[in-house]
Amino acid sequence: MAALRAGARVAALDAAHVWHPYTQHLGAAPPVPIVRAEGALLFDAAGRPIIDAISSWWVTLHGHAHPAIARAVAEQAARLDQVIFTAFTHEPAAALAAELVARLPEGLTRVFYSDDGSTAVEVALKIALQYWANRGEPRRRIAALTHAYHGDTFGAMSASAPSTFTAPFADQLFDIVRLPAPDDGDGVALLRALDVALDAPGDPLAAVIVEPRLQGAGGMRVWSAGLLRDIRARTLERGALLIADEVLTGFGRTGPLFASEGAGIVPDIICLSKGLTGGFLPLGATVVREPIFDAFLSEDRRRTLFHGHSYTANPIACAAARASLALLDAACAARRDAIAAIHERRIGALASHPRVRRPRVLGTVAAFDLAGSDAGGYLSDSAAGLTAFALERGVLLRPLGDVIYVLPPYAITDAELGQVYDVIQTFLAAHAQ
Ligand SMILES: *Cc1c(COP(=O)(O)O)cnc(C)c1O
Repeated sequence: MAALRAGARVAALDAAHVWHPYTQHLGAAPPVPIVRAEGALLFDAAGRPIIDAISSWWVTLHGHAHPAIARAVAEQAARLDQVIFTAFTHEPAAALAAELVARLPEGLTRVFYSDDGSTAVEVALKIALQYWANRGEPRRRIAALTHAYHGDTFGAMSASAPSTFTAPFADQLFDIVRLPAPDDGDGVALLRALDVALDAPGDPLAAVIVEPRLQGAGGMRVWSAGLLRDIRARTLERGALLIADEVLTGFGRTGPLFASEGAGIVPDIICLSKGLTGGFLPLGATVVREPIFDAFLSEDRRRTLFHGHSYTANPIACAAARASLALLDAACAARRDAIAAIHERRIGALASHPRVRRPRVLGTVAAFDLAGSDAGGYLSDSAAGLTAFALERGVLLRPLGDVIYVLPPYAITDAELGQVYDVIQTFLAAHAQ
């Protein structure tokens, strides 16, 4: 009873004072107060479990409140909470950098910390542009892919595909060379457009930014490793930097530890966040090859990377990341394979449903498009209806438009994952037309 009253109080305070992300507050269902979490489960004020089938916006890696990470956070918080990260350093940040470098594709050696995925991308774009300026051969143009999503700050929005999200700011975004979608056909159109951009006389590309193998917010679009290798080969040949935004795909999401590694490529710059701390605390990292770092070494102080955030390399966040990285062992890889196998089987079983299109699985991520009725327009509404439908049945799902996806924490049990698919199946059965 007391817990329920506390939940009602949270809801009332929230309704009076909080502005939520990606939420149209007019007519929105009131947010669900969550009081604790464990493994793949969230618990509401009544103690009812909700299976977190989307890893709380793709961040929860191993599972909620993992004891090893919780302990690392508590111990670090009691020892060193925070210290300015210019002219000072500390073990969590230095050791994490070394541990990341040891596990990243070989050659990515220098770690710049920031706060989240968007800032990791902002830093990558700034490094790429200033790298060329510092070398005395300024290059100004950045190329990005159709359907890309790189974050919500202005640079990241510029690199992201134009969408409803970015429309109000369209005039303030900088120009991007927009390449065709990587999942459209055989990739020839993309490579041809890339060739044109790379060869532009007098205005060569500074960098190409991609989400390796999986475009997340743009619709969980899986694309080929071969095409990624072709993009890498061309950028290497012509000198443009390749930025891999692995904010979503890092830390085993797509199976291998990094999607770049799975495709056998090494980008020049990689952006990490989301699962970096296991989903405990916000932290971003932009990791570059040593020659890029070297281009900022100069007697001329104007060549400095003048970028930083108040909480850069926060020791508690770095400690969480070290604990999470330690959990990415062989047993975790086996668990990811087991999740992928369940995805394949259950998505495969859904594939014959008349409204299921383009079923796809990449590692721990599974998705399909929900096709509309002939009446049209009904479509995205019905996919959106899944959120409430699933929540009533104890499952957290959040389609991206017409794209229904499952992206669970690795701790999800086979039975819980089965329940997630049962709910999707029931929903589809009720919406066969
Ligand atoms: C989520 C995401 C971002 C932005 O990360 P935030 O932490 O939300 O700022 C950037 N790139 C990709 C690929 C993402 O999925």
